[in-house]
Amino acid sequence: MHPLAKKGGLGDVVGSLPKAQRELGIDSRVLLPLYPGVMDRIIGKAKKLPRKLYLPLEWRVFPARLWHTDVQEVPVYLLDIEDISFSADVYPNQLDMNSVRPFFLLSLAAMEFKKATNWNPHIFHIHDWPTSMVATVLKWHMYYSTLSNHYDTVLTIHNLAHQGIVQETNLIQWGIPKEAFNIEGLEYYGMTNFLKGGIIASDMVTTVSPRYSWEIQTREYGMGLDGVLKKYNSKLKGILNGIDYSYWNPKTDPLIPAHYDVNDIAPKRECKKSLLSRCGWEDDGSPILIYIGRLAEQKGLDILLPSIEAIPGHGCKLIVLGEGSEIYERALLDMCLQFPDSLFVKIGYDEELSHLMYAGGDMLVMPSYFEPCGLSQLIAMRYGTVPICRATGGLADTVIDADSASDGTGFLFSSYDSEAFLRAIGRALASWNSPNHWNRIISNCMKVDFSWSKSSREYANLYLELLGVPEGENKNLLL
Ligand code: ADP
Repeated sequence: MHPLAKKGGLGDVVGSLPKAQRELGIDSRVLLPLYPGVMDRIIGKAKKLPRKLYLPLEWRVFPARLWHTDVQEVPVYLLDIEDISFSADVYPNQLDMNSVRPFFLLSLAAMEFKKATNWNPHIFHIHDWPTSMVATVLKWHMYYSTLSNHYDTVLTIHNLAHQGIVQETNLIQWGIPKEAFNIEGLEYYGMTNFLKGGIIASDMVTTVSPRYSWEIQTREYGMGLDGVLKKYNSKLKGILNGIDYSYWNPKTDPLIPAHYDVNDIAPKRECKKSLLSRCGWEDDGSPILIYIGRLAEQKGLDILLPSIEAIPGHGCKLIVLGEGSEIYERALLDMCLQFPDSLFVKIGYDEELSHLMYAGGDMLVMPSYFEPCGLSQLIAMRYGTVPICRATGGLADTVIDADSASDGTGFLFSSYDSEAFLRAIGRALASWNSPNHWNRIISNCMKVDFSWSKSSREYANLYLELLGVPEGENKNLLL
């Protein structure tokens, strides 16, 4: 949950969707692990709730506390469990029963939540495998599945590549009976798959873009769960992510040196100058491509890396900000030595530099192999930086090719290879050389609305449907 803990898009979503939901009148609150360092990021004080929680696991109870704070008026509860620590990296580096245990306890804390807070939710909206266990616990746990106080569950899959698979299949010590280990449960080729269990056990499953919701039902993108997703597709729905338009706003962003909007874009040039000087480059008028994201296979690094050699020949420069696979990190740093005048690489997570890049860049490249939604292209458009993306998942749902439509916002390519990617860059550069066309694309980008206003309503309607509120009343409540 940005700004408390963030590794990628999920952090942005949990940092902004609850706020948008509260504006609709939904009492949305967040339960989050007390990750190391989170307390330092809380502005003002967190209050320790007086009542302890007791979480039963492995024939003992783990006492736990909830710390309460508000983040942009959203109540947030931070779970602090005695003798258990969550990884400062947010996700475990290696998956086994030890590293997964804290997340299981987090799910048990959801069951006990009301005792400490005196507040009982109707619905648990859970995200990815680490909290998919809430649905698992409600369906199969030997005690919690018998609770008469039933909660509805919505599981959002932000990335099907991460499923929470562990070797162990005996979770009896965690209260999950062996009946839960079959093809209609947690079992997955002789292992435990927490996301699979969550998909089966949840009342509704959503993905973060409509296109990704059907892509994952295919063998190519289904990551081994296409069969399960196809079987349960009547409860599967794609709802496009939004971004927080008050945080990502070039008119007010405190992390950029000059402010602009669609009516006066000129100050963007100053942001570009500042970005170039950060890279040790002069402003020679050439277009700046940016890449901001995890350095993972999913993100298309295998076609990005071989394309870098062609960048100087195209008369542009590329700035990369990211961290991830060591192989990609090393390859990028090596190429930096080879192309010091056209490639700048910063390895690491740097929120401030990312803002400067979105504001100072001309084009964002996102050649993803698959992309559940993608937020970087939405942020880039907000800052008048034109996306060049592979037409997959949420990228295809949010970017309109500027060579085929007057309301175009970027450049799309389909085939997953460097040649196709470079052709798309070539088309973008041709438009760059035609200022009228280019300015229209920038203006289209800055005018599209990817705030949460529409998508938060879609989630609200889903919640109301689960709660059995009739159609007509939905409208009265939400419109
Ligand atoms: P994913 O969730 O797959 O990582 P998204 O495009 O949905 O990708 O979201 C990425 C988010 O993380 C964006 O807000 C992007 O700006 C941010 N981000 C990714 N890598 C970095 C980094 N190295 N430094 C700063 N921000 C980053």
